[in-house]
Amino acid sequence: TSSEDAERTLFDTIEAQFSLSDEKLHDIVGQFLEDFRVGLSEYNHPMAMIPTFVTGVPNGSETGTFLALDLGGTNLRVCEVKLLGNHEFTLRQQKYKVSDALKTGEASVLFGNYLADSVDAFLTTPSVSPTTAAQNPFAGSSAIDEINPEVDPALPLGLTFSFPVEQTALNQGKILTWTKGFAAKNAIGHDVVQLLQDAFNRKHLHVRCVALVNDTVGALLSRAYTAGGCILGAIFGTGTNGAYVEKVENIAKLGDAPVRKSGGEMVINAEWGAFNNTRSVLPSTPFDNKLNRKSINPRYQAFEKFISGMYLGEITRNILLTLIDAAPKPLIFNGFSSSTLNDHYGIDTAIMSEIEAAWEAGRPQDAHVKPVEGAHDPVLDTSAPEVPHTNGTKAKEVPHHFTEVDKASPEDVARLEKIRGIISQLFFIDLEHVSLRDAAIVRWAVSIVANRAAQLSACAVATVLIQTGRAKLGGGIIPAEDRVIVGVDGSLIQYYPNFNARLRASLRMLVGEDVESRVDIGMAKDGSGVGAALCALQAIKQG
Ligand code: ADP
Repeated sequence: TSSEDAERTLFDTIEAQFSLSDEKLHDIVGQFLEDFRVGLSEYNHPMAMIPTFVTGVPNGSETGTFLALDLGGTNLRVCEVKLLGNHEFTLRQQKYKVSDALKTGEASVLFGNYLADSVDAFLTTPSVSPTTAAQNPFAGSSAIDEINPEVDPALPLGLTFSFPVEQTALNQGKILTWTKGFAAKNAIGHDVVQLLQDAFNRKHLHVRCVALVNDTVGALLSRAYTAGGCILGAIFGTGTNGAYVEKVENIAKLGDAPVRKSGGEMVINAEWGAFNNTRSVLPSTPFDNKLNRKSINPRYQAFEKFISGMYLGEITRNILLTLIDAAPKPLIFNGFSSSTLNDHYGIDTAIMSEIEAAWEAGRPQDAHVKPVEGAHDPVLDTSAPEVPHTNGTKAKEVPHHFTEVDKASPEDVARLEKIRGIISQLFFIDLEHVSLRDAAIVRWAVSIVANRAAQLSACAVATVLIQTGRAKLGGGIIPAEDRVIVGVDGSLIQYYPNFNARLRASLRMLVGEDVESRVDIGMAKDGSGVGAALCALQAIKQG
């Protein structure tokens, strides 16, 4: 009938809007490479390509005890990390809640009365022998040669600070602006390391902040330590970003800086979440446009808005509302919505994970992270069968599962029943208004949003492989290394069913199987803690 045709057309239109052809993905990588190049040559480009002043990565033999402090959002985390020198470490940590009063009060109170006090409390926690200067800092450490504990007995600390900072040295960076609900006074424009160190000094704490670390750099260093090397650290969590190892000679914007003359390598924090801010190479759908317009940062973090955990649920919510409101008749839930579905950011990406997991349950390609028994380096499960890369041209061959739901197998019906339950429970829609077909439609909507996110994530990874000479767009280079190691962190890549497998499928299309099969993508263990510790060690090594 014509109304069935109209429905079919709407579904096809939406699916087509979310489909990225191979050619499009190639174009995106091409633009990415160009933006990398410009960002490395000039300051204030949207692709910030921030030099981190980290000029080496660990190989796993490092030893020593370090403190790590992680101020990012809701919690403050203090850790003591012991690097054992065999790719392994032990970690003791404590979380402290950051109140709104602290977030918006005087910076001296946040740093002095809170951060320094928390570190003090952590060091004197009776349950664990406090790490004193006498036992520490570098018993058996490779850093012992460089720092004489007699002269400088302070415990070295790495600070993971997840706010925009203009970094000018490994242990120096001015706070540019607060985000995520922070607004502490007299902080903007100040050196964050100095603020913290002054607070330690006022309290007579024997702690020295030697490194300021971005979470991507933490992921890179932490995977390098556990896996014996790493070229890229990438985050796919609330947001997305990556840091990779670049040749110093390519960082043109460093000009004649002494570090440039000495050659070698430096870790670059790409800030790739800002890709496409001033371009339109990514095809936005009406659902993306709505998200962007209503976000607190319209047009900023453009790439991130297609990819990360903070946004995927919201894009899906926009699709579902369009289906509920479809004329002449609603296409799902008998036209009923709910306060959850009506709320801005009402759907968490974790719910999408649950829906996909219910659909994939029992299927062989269910590729969650599986810690390999006895191994210190947890890898994402790559033993799962390959997931085909689905692009615009192939999308038509993939049947919409909901068009023939009455012919579904008993197994599929059972899976859809489970999804019905999840929808009713988590979207707060009466079960009687959620049909099996609705469940299939929701699963389809969720999967097109996640597929696109994984494909675009692959573009960022491919860009780094090509930029560092390990791959060619379209395939063709056999890399010198047998194994190209990548460290990742974030709930999206860790928990979203098949996210990693989908990313790899697109990576394979972009750089060829020869290269893709050598890329070892694994979780960066405790990136913000161990990464900060490793960065502190690196800072001491670099003097
Ligand atoms: P952060 O990036 O802030 O350090 P996470 O890596 O835990 O923290 O990412 C949090 C984001 O991941 C949130 O946006 C949340 O929606 C999403 N998320 C949480 N759990 C899951 C899950 N199981 N599957 C997919 N996304 C998830």
